[in-house]
Amino acid sequence: MTALILVDIQNDFVPGGALPVKEGDEIAPIINRLQSRFDLVIATQDWHPANHGSFAANHPGKKPGDIIELNGLKQILWPVHCVQNTPGAAFVPTLDIRRVARIFQKGTDPGIDSYSGFFDNGHRKATGLGDWLKANRVSYVYVCGLATDYCVKFTALDAVQLGFKVYLLEGACRGVNMRPGDIDDALEEMRRAGVTILRGEHMKG
Ligand SMILES: [Zn+2]
Repeated sequence: MTALILVDIQNDFVPGGALPVKEGDEIAPIINRLQSRFDLVIATQDWHPANHGSFAANHPGKKPGDIIELNGLKQILWPVHCVQNTPGAAFVPTLDIRRVARIFQKGTDPGIDSYSGFFDNGHRKATGLGDWLKANRVSYVYVCGLATDYCVKFTALDAVQLGFKVYLLEGACRGVNMRPGDIDDALEEMRRAGVTILRGEHMKG
């Protein structure tokens, strides 16, 4: 079985949102065309309480981009984004979610961030996505979405660790590139870990 994982394709991560990824909105139509090629489609959703520890606004004197320690983990601070039940946390309206079999929400614990769709950043709690994929006999996992150098990367790396054969649909991802080269570094890190990077739109391995 194959599964396509749509990572965090939410209003706050596309132009006009609170934490926009350049050209992030361009992937929705690409992904809409791809979905029918996969047995299962799953989505992850960044879903923070307003008091989340990754928000710079919740740390007096800090600003987005600053790095702090949050419960023992290095944490980059972000603008307030993807607050539960706000329009920014909703899926991009141009993304077709009719085939999404299940949505896995992450980042719900105010004390820890969660880039991966599988685990929080400390690998302390699982979202249930890994068990769900295994229960559905999925062996091949295809990852796309936002952002290449954060949530997409960590989702793909965890999928490898859990024993799935993992493909990254590079043309259906966009990255933050906070520092120039971050996206290329993320692709290289995934490749070294065993992720197959598929370029272009015709991307089934
Ligand atoms: Zn977040």
